[in-house]
Amino acid sequence: MTSESVPDRYAVIGNPIEHSKSPQVHALFAQQTLQAMRYERLLAPLDHFVDSVHEFIVHGGRGANVTVPFKLEAFALANELTPRAQAAGAVNTLSFSADGIKGDNTDGIGLVRDITRNAGVPLRNRSVLLLGAGGAARGVILPLIEENIAGLVIANRTQPRAMELAQQFSHSGVPVSPAAFDQLDQRFDVIINATSASLDSALPPLPDCVFGSQTLAYDMMYAAQPTIFMQHAAHHGAVVRDGLGMLIEQAAESFFVWRGVRPDTAPVYTWLRGQL
Ligand code: NDP
Repeated sequence: MTSESVPDRYAVIGNPIEHSKSPQVHALFAQQTLQAMRYERLLAPLDHFVDSVHEFIVHGGRGANVTVPFKLEAFALANELTPRAQAAGAVNTLSFSADGIKGDNTDGIGLVRDITRNAGVPLRNRSVLLLGAGGAARGVILPLIEENIAGLVIANRTQPRAMELAQQFSHSGVPVSPAAFDQLDQRFDVIINATSASLDSALPPLPDCVFGSQTLAYDMMYAAQPTIFMQHAAHHGAVVRDGLGMLIEQAAESFFVWRGVRPDTAPVYTWLRGQL
């Protein structure tokens, strides 16, 4: 093989990592767009994320996705950050070049594209309730605000974290306020579950009034069956959607960041849905 024909290397780095669907998604994107690249899973020891990244770079790595629990370490490692990574305070996409390590965050734009394009629900002038104040919640706030939503309420089990997040975005031009779950007293157009409660089959304790028949209830988690949050929201009349589309759209944005080409996500979504 000549050096020209060696495919560029990419990886998803996390711990654990066996469950990650990113290698299949990126392989399909590469096949579709005729990009010569290889994308693998990289298990980094919990206390050796930075070493693992440097080793990957030495062995020809051009970029990497970063997943649990390393998104904050990736943020600290990058010597250049995009505005959306800065706003998120976390990095899920690293690009390696002679200039150093650039950190980006594609989770938020992935969510927004899945809602507006794939689900066909416009966000402009819509009231949005964001449940959770962890890494995933933080990452989607700026992209939501950039859609010119009418307002954002952030509700979290640990209230000070919601307050801190709301404060961070208080000068964004869109009203952003914190709330306790039991203080919520209005119906929302869009409710995004960015808590990890569904992983434990638990529900954030929401009053019924937040749901309406036009409400889109979006769970960032995805599974073969509707999550408990989706079941609950559907029971209260809402339209429901899980986070599989977000996963694929954030991957497509990372792919674009690295390769400058936008893959068609629809066939990949259909294929991956069938694999769950
Ligand atoms: P974090 O651990 O950073 O945050 C977890 C959040 O969930 C916190 O706000 C926490 O509240 C809250 N929480 C946990 N358990 C409960 C509960 N029983 N009731 C109410 N709130 C609860 O996780 P992430 O932000 O990284 O991930 C959140 C979810 O988003 C996960 O399910 C993850 O799989 C999903 N995700 C999906 C993506 C996709 O592409 N589809 C991308 C990224 C994430 P507190 O502050 O009180 O602890």
